[in-house]
Amino acid sequence: MSSCIFCKIAQGEIPSEVVYETDKVIAFKDLHPVAPIHVLIIPKVHLADLNDLATSAQRAELMEEILQATQALCKLYGTSSFNLISNCGEEAGQSVFHLHFHFISGVDLTKKIAAAAQA
Ligand code: 5GP
Ligand code: ZN
Repeated sequence: MSSCIFCKIAQGEIPSEVVYETDKVIAFKDLHPVAPIHVLIIPKVHLADLNDLATSAQRAELMEEILQATQALCKLYGTSSFNLISNCGEEAGQSVFHLHFHFISGVDLTKKIAAAAQA
């Protein structure tokens, strides 16, 4: 999609710090990290969100790619602990409408979420 910022990142039209790439997905550092390690994993094709995954085959293929990416990122960062989050829809906090998974590591995110809920 021509106006989509993550499509532009996937096509190399907008610079980003790419840490992992296959022909199907690309992973790059989040511009505003919420943890020491905060990487976004996205499919290269434009899908708005998780609801755009129409078929079982599409879901299975993408999740395989995403989990291969998480394994590669664990190896890269020397960890096996991480949160993998995909905000689906505006009310769930999605702000970029190209499907993406936040790979967050180096912090106990559940404590941060609990603290935010109390604030
Ligand atoms: P969402 O709120 O949609 O779940 O997450 C979107 C994420 O994309 C945010 O964490 C935000 O910091 C990140 N982001 C937005 N624009 C850019 C950009 O141009 N480059 C990079 N690397 N990250 C971005
Ligand atoms: Zn897109």
